[in-house]
Amino acid sequence: MKIVIATHNTKKRRELEQILAPLNFTVINFELSEVQETGATFEENAKLKAENGCRESGHPCIGDDSGLCVDALDGAPGIYSARFAGEHDDDANTKKLLKSMKDKPKNQRTARYVCAICMVFPDERSVIVRGECEGRIAFAPVGEGGFGYDPVFLPDAAPGFTMAQLHSDKKHMLSHRGDALQKLAERLKEFV
Ligand code: IMP
Repeated sequence: MKIVIATHNTKKRRELEQILAPLNFTVINFELSEVQETGATFEENAKLKAENGCRESGHPCIGDDSGLCVDALDGAPGIYSARFAGEHDDDANTKKLLKSMKDKPKNQRTARYVCAICMVFPDERSVIVRGECEGRIAFAPVGEGGFGYDPVFLPDAAPGFTMAQLHSDKKHMLSHRGDALQKLAERLKEFV
């Protein structure tokens, strides 16, 4: 199936393309306008992105809205993850997170990545799924891979490693985005 991905984040796009490749989707490039993320939830924002992308391209479109929810910060930065320290600056976001968590001991550093994926079709049908990945916030950044908060996120499923230390295939096997896209693939079997 030919689809369009609604994101201007090149690292997120690369991950989505890598995970979608074995799932029989062919991603086509389409220059889409930027959507204001006015929703109150990951799901609402994912749907806004996918609806806009489908409307502008005329193709089925996938929107991803994702972020990091930290228990000790009452779920922040959540849907504001990309803008936690201002404008889409991964290093500044990570520094602000570590500062906000500096007094928290190991047992109060639990967190999860959340990824809502919405797929909208030209006939207006849509599917929304949510993937999650449990973990903890590290005390200092480690690793070069991934993007965003990956150097300070320790996934429970890979003890002793930050997400940024994992090979991309391993990240996709246990990540919130991998989880959401596997669920999407399952839902689409009954759908198309
Ligand atoms: P969005 O583009 O509005 O969905 O914002 C996503 C933001 O959440 C990113 O800019 C990162 O700060 C964070 N985020 C989402 N997924 C990941 C991930 O896989 N690794 C690290 N950070 C992520």
